[in-house]
Amino acid sequence: MRCVGRFAPSPTGEMHLGNVLAALLSWLSARQQGGLWRLRIEDLDPQRSRQEYADGLMRDLEWLGLTWDGEVIYQSQRTQVYAHCLNRLASMRDPQTGLQLVYPCTCTRNDILAAQAPHEADGRIVYPGTCRPHSASPDNSDNSSPLLRRAAMRIIVPDVEIEYDDRVYGHQSVNLAAHCGDFILRRSDGVFAYQLAVVIDDAEMGVTEIVRGRDLLLSVAQQHYMRTLLGLAQPAYCHHPLLVNAQGQRLCKRDHALAVSAMRAHYTAQEIIGNLAHAVGLIPEPEPLAPQQLLPYFDWSRIPRNDIMVSE
Ligand code: GLU
Ligand code: ZN
Repeated sequence: MRCVGRFAPSPTGEMHLGNVLAALLSWLSARQQGGLWRLRIEDLDPQRSRQEYADGLMRDLEWLGLTWDGEVIYQSQRTQVYAHCLNRLASMRDPQTGLQLVYPCTCTRNDILAAQAPHEADGRIVYPGTCRPHSASPDNSDNSSPLLRRAAMRIIVPDVEIEYDDRVYGHQSVNLAAHCGDFILRRSDGVFAYQLAVVIDDAEMGVTEIVRGRDLLLSVAQQHYMRTLLGLAQPAYCHHPLLVNAQGQRLCKRDHALAVSAMRAHYTAQEIIGNLAHAVGLIPEPEPLAPQQLLPYFDWSRIPRNDIMVSE
């Protein structure tokens, strides 16, 4: 089967070095296997996404020499597909309890925080199941009533370990009930959740390999679960370390100095690529190289698990 990789940025800010790393590793892995590399703009959230950022991302990718195949997919144009999939999930029942797998939730963030068990101190919110129905009811999956349209839609998760292997971080075992609880498929404002969209889009785009930052390593469990429910094949999972500043904080879109648009004034594309390749251990010394020239050096076993410090 031909490898299909992808880069799936959210156009909520300028392309920065962290995005370049995700794009570069995904591109190298796919191209080294003679595969395709596709681009998807994750502009689900109309409040935060801007077309000018999407345009900038594409300009930066071209400038860096990271070329993609086929048409660019915009999530904002695919809400019909997500709605169809949500209905499909809503027609399913939990095999254990007979409950409908998807249910409306009207909790506010404060309701959930108030019910939060004290041990989730790492900032994660575990949904306590407040709105989960207690007994199997007749099929009422018609969620078009005005009241339910203002509710978020959640999916019941099983209390079992979900197991998968990551190319860099190795074997993972995540219990969704403990990790996040029943999670959101569609927000109360009608915006479809990333977890739903990513699974459908990767399947429809034929993606066989997912490369992205390790901040999404555990969210594989949610995606793995939905792929199983929908009868979709599991792709290969390859998460990479994050770029952090001297304080150990993850680089973010607010660090304008590390935006590609700002770096262009001081570096060539090949310098940026070569420095990054050196920082992740692909080449022994930093030297200017085009992505193509890195192909002989690319090897997942060289990619470290620890985050990588970059100076501004
Ligand atoms: N859109 C996500 C981001 O920019 C990436 C999602 C993914 O690669 O699955 O962080
Ligand atoms: Zn609720």
